[in-house]
Amino acid sequence: MENLAIIGFGAATIGFLKRLIEEGKDKKYNIDIYEKGEDLENAGFGGLKYDGKLFISKEMGGDLDIPIATQKKVVEFYLQKSGFAKFDSKNKLIISNELEKGNSFENKELYKKFYHFGFDPVRSHFFHLGTDILIDTIKAIYEDLSNLKNINFKFGEEVKQIVVNNKKITVLSGKSEQIYDKVVVAVGRRGHKLVSEIVNNHPNLVLSNDKVDLGIRLELPNHVVDYLNKEMYEFKVRLKTKTGYIVRTFCNNPGGEVTLEKYDDFYTVNGHANTNKKTSNTNFAVLVTHSFTQPFNDPIGYGSYIAKLSNILAGGNKVILQCYEDFIISKRTKKLGRVEPTLDANNYILGDLNLALPRRTTESIIDFLERLENVVPGVTYPDNLLYGTEVKFYANKIDNKVLPNLKIIGDCSGWTRSITYATSHGYLTAKEF
Ligand SMILES: Cc1cc2nc3c(=O)[nH]c(=O)nc-3n(C[C@H](O)[C@H](O)[C@H](O)COP(=O)(O)OP(=O)(O)OC[C@H]3O[C@@H](n4cnc5c(N)ncnc54)[C@H](O)[C@@H]3O)c2cc1C
Repeated sequence: MENLAIIGFGAATIGFLKRLIEEGKDKKYNIDIYEKGEDLENAGFGGLKYDGKLFISKEMGGDLDIPIATQKKVVEFYLQKSGFAKFDSKNKLIISNELEKGNSFENKELYKKFYHFGFDPVRSHFFHLGTDILIDTIKAIYEDLSNLKNINFKFGEEVKQIVVNNKKITVLSGKSEQIYDKVVVAVGRRGHKLVSEIVNNHPNLVLSNDKVDLGIRLELPNHVVDYLNKEMYEFKVRLKTKTGYIVRTFCNNPGGEVTLEKYDDFYTVNGHANTNKKTSNTNFAVLVTHSFTQPFNDPIGYGSYIAKLSNILAGGNKVILQCYEDFIISKRTKKLGRVEPTLDANNYILGDLNLALPRRTTESIIDFLERLENVVPGVTYPDNLLYGTEVKFYANKIDNKVLPNLKIIGDCSGWTRSITYATSHGYLTAKEF
C-alpha cells in the first residue's frame, strides 16, 4: 500500500475520492485527510457550507474544459446526498419538485432584452440546495468516507509546509510530521498561504496570475427582481463598461442574507440563501475584473489591501454599507432608507465605499448598474444597499505536470471557482492515481 495525504476536505477532495472509490483505487492507498477545521461543522468549504448552488455550464465556474457529462455526474451526486434526488427501480434519477432549480436565459425574450443593452448573458443549468440543507449533505458524504478503514480524517490539523524530496513528500502540520508517497493539495481559496509556500519553493509550478475581482454586494427588495428570480433564480451577465473594465453579476440570492467572509487577516462580504427561511431582500455581487501587466505580479496582495482598507474605515472587523444615492456622489451614508439590511448591524458601519475602492472601479460599477436599470427597473433605487468590499481572488494557475507525485486541485490551483468545477477537477485528477 502507498501512503497518500490529501490536504483539505472540500469540494475538490470529495470529487477526487468519489472517483478513487468508484474505480476501487482507494484500496491501493492509506489515506490521511488533513482538515484545518476542528470538525466537520468548522471546516472552511465555502459553497458547501453556505448557499450550495450547483451549476452545470461550459461558460462559468472555472477555466478547465470539463465535459458536461462529468459536471452532471458530480451535481447528481450532491443531489442524491442531499436527499433531493433518488434512483427509482429502473435506475432513473428522480429529482424532487421541492428543489429550487432552473435554466438561466432559457427565456429568449429576456435573453434578447439583456443582449440589446450590451450585456452578455451567461447560460447555465443550476440547482439550489440552500444553507440549511448543506450540513446534512456533507455529513452524509463524510459518514460514507469515514466508514472506509483506509481513510483517516485528521481534523484540526492545518498543514503549514510540504517538502518534496525526491520521491517522498513530507507533510508538516503544527501537530505532526509525516512522509507520504503522494500528496493532493485541495485547500481552496483560503488555503492560499500553503500554496504560496509550495510555489515559493517550486516557482515553475506557476503558469500565470494577473487578475482579481473587486466590487460590492447589492441588496434590494425582492419585488424589484421577483420576475427574474422566478424565471431563472440566478441571473449572470457580463458587460464591458465605459472604463473598458468587464463587470459581472455573481451569486444571486433571492430571499437571501448578506454575510461576512472571514480571511486570515481581513473581512469581505458575501451572500447566501436558505431553502426554508427566506428574507424579503435579494442580494447579488457586482464584480469588476482587474487584470494587471508586468512588472506587477501580486493581484492577491492588491485585493487584500483594498479589503483591509474597507475594514479599517469601518473601524475593525466590519464592512462598509452605503445607499446607492450616496455611492454615486461619494457621500458618507448617515441614514438608511426603506431597505432593511440583512447583515447583522454589528458587522457593518454606514460609510463611503469610494474611500476604499479605486475610482475606475466605482465608475465601472455605476455604469454597470445604470445600464442594468434599463432591463431591471429599480436596480438603482436611491436607497438600495451596497456593501463592500467583495473580493474574488484568482489563485496562481498551477501546472500539475511539474511534480508527478504532488497535485494541486480545486480553487487553490487557480483553475476552478465553483463547487461543480472544483469537484470535477478532483474527479478528473483521480484518473491518474
Ligand atoms: C460564502 C461562499 C459561498 C459560496 N457559494 C457557492 C455556491 O453557491 N456555488 C458554487 O458553485 N460555489 C460557491 N462558492 C465557491 C465554492 O465554495 C468553491 O469554489 C469550492 O468550494 C472550492 O472547492 P475546493 O475543494 O477547492 O475548496 P474548499 O471547498 O474551500 O475546501 C478547502 C478545505 O481546505 C481546508 N484547508 C485550507 N487550508 C488548509 C490547510 N493549510 N491545512 C488543512 N486544511 C486546510 C479548508 O478548511 C476547507 O475545508 C462559495 C464560496 C464561498 C466562500
